[in-house]
Amino acid sequence: MLRRRELEELMSLDTGGRPVLSLYVDIRPQLQPERAYLAAAKSLLSDLADTLDEDARERLEPERQRAQGWLEENRPTGRSLALFSCSPVGFWQAHYLAVPVRQHAAFETTPYLTPLLDLLDEYERTAVVLVDKEKARLFTVFLGEIEEHKGFKDFVPGKHDQGGWSQMNYQRHHEEHVYEHLKDVVGAIQELQRDQAWDRLILSGPEEPVTALHGMLPESLSGLVVDTFPGAMYARDSDVLRWALDVNERLEREAEVRLLEELLGTAAAGHTAVQGAENVLDAAWQANVQKLLLSEGLDLSGTQCEACGHLDLSERDRCPACGGKVARVGDMVERVAHRVLEAGGSLEFLHGAPSDKLRETSGGVGAFTRHL
Ligand SMILES: [Zn+2]
Repeated sequence: MLRRRELEELMSLDTGGRPVLSLYVDIRPQLQPERAYLAAAKSLLSDLADTLDEDARERLEPERQRAQGWLEENRPTGRSLALFSCSPVGFWQAHYLAVPVRQHAAFETTPYLTPLLDLLDEYERTAVVLVDKEKARLFTVFLGEIEEHKGFKDFVPGKHDQGGWSQMNYQRHHEEHVYEHLKDVVGAIQELQRDQAWDRLILSGPEEPVTALHGMLPESLSGLVVDTFPGAMYARDSDVLRWALDVNERLEREAEVRLLEELLGTAAAGHTAVQGAENVLDAAWQANVQKLLLSEGLDLSGTQCEACGHLDLSERDRCPACGGKVARVGDMVERVAHRVLEAGGSLEFLHGAPSDKLRETSGGVGAFTRHL
């Protein structure tokens, strides 16, 4: 499981120019009985070594041995592995993830994060609350994994208790207790938000308490409610996870379709959006990208200037920006993503049909810009 703190550590890692091994391996269960992923990891690492010069290959060797040793010793769980190692600065992280990842190995001065950024974009952190008139269960779902947090039951007397009070008094007494219970639930949701900082909230249960709870949430939280549906209080974790993943997938695809339409419309009108790798690289170079849109699994190669860092698709020997010497690079997507993030922009990876459409219309890459 990848914790928020670990991710922040990865994103801000400063190795003082020393290269970091980044390794992503597919370890889906069907590949595990024969430990076939071990062979896949070895071949990713040896292919990587083949692309490096003598000096870098020597620096890679201890990282490679450590990664392979760890893979052999640790039983895999989940569907993929993301591993980062830079021994000279004592940096090491290895995570089994419950979601699939695109296999890749890199040895660069910063961790290779495109596959992770894609996952984080695709799997928003989500809270699920099961609620009825006296009980509640709270969950968070992240990167395909579910965690149950505090659940509780408040004492709520029945509507039809026998006794000396009139039926109306009982009804009011009952409703006050339900209200107190829902107030407790709101408090628990607020606490979970402070603790876990999720982006989406799903409410589930009988219509009456769900509607009441929704209405009692402060605006900052009710704005995060993305779906409500009838659900069973005693649902299994795996069912709650399935619901949350289905809702998230639907929302992601809908948001991607909207975003792509907006990009194409804005670009067609000659406003602040650009299409195609060349235009996007240009905008990224000028720190003019507000949001970068990428098709899933996009590969781009080109050149990068060794003097000023300018990225270019052409085969020129000299940098068009400063005249410096350029080197061929295969991971243009990663480099342009870094540049956009550094300049305060954001990324959106498209999947499925919207991803195909972005490829057809724009070569798989487009961007909203800050200005023309
Ligand atoms: Zn240059």
